[in-house]
Amino acid sequence: MQDCIFCKIINKEIPNYTVYEDSHVLAFLDITPRAKGHTLVIPKVHAETLLDLNEEIAKELLPAVQKVMNRMEAVLKPDGYNVGWNHAEAGGQVVPHVHIHVLPRWNGDGGGNMHSIVDSASDVDVAEVARLFG
Ligand code: AMP
Ligand code: ZN
Repeated sequence: MQDCIFCKIINKEIPNYTVYEDSHVLAFLDITPRAKGHTLVIPKVHAETLLDLNEEIAKELLPAVQKVMNRMEAVLKPDGYNVGWNHAEAGGQVVPHVHIHVLPRWNGDGGGNMHSIVDSASDVDVAEVARLFG
């Protein structure tokens, strides 16, 4: 997509620090890292979110994340990771091209976990929600 910054990276109109690449996926260092080695994994086709992405391409993403993590194991040797993505404005997504953040973590680095992203369900009845899903 013409105006998409990540499509421009794929098309080499904007430089990147590549960590891993194959025919469907590019992984590159985040330019404003929140941890050493913070990497973004993106499909080479434009899709705003996972829900807009062709299922066959979606299947390529997790093996690519695994390869990125294997590279990190060799190069940076972190103690752990957080892996995930911000989906849509409510989820904090800024760049409208689906991207998986791979965040290496070290013991004592002061970061949080998935539970620190949001805490808005104190009055939610889980059984009631389960009924919605049938
Ligand atoms: P999100 O908030 O999930 O949409 O994250 C977008 C991420 O893209 C941010 O962490 C930015 O630092 C990163 N980013 C934006 N432009 C670039 C770029 N040219 N190269 C590498 N990372 C970028
Ligand atoms: Zn794009």
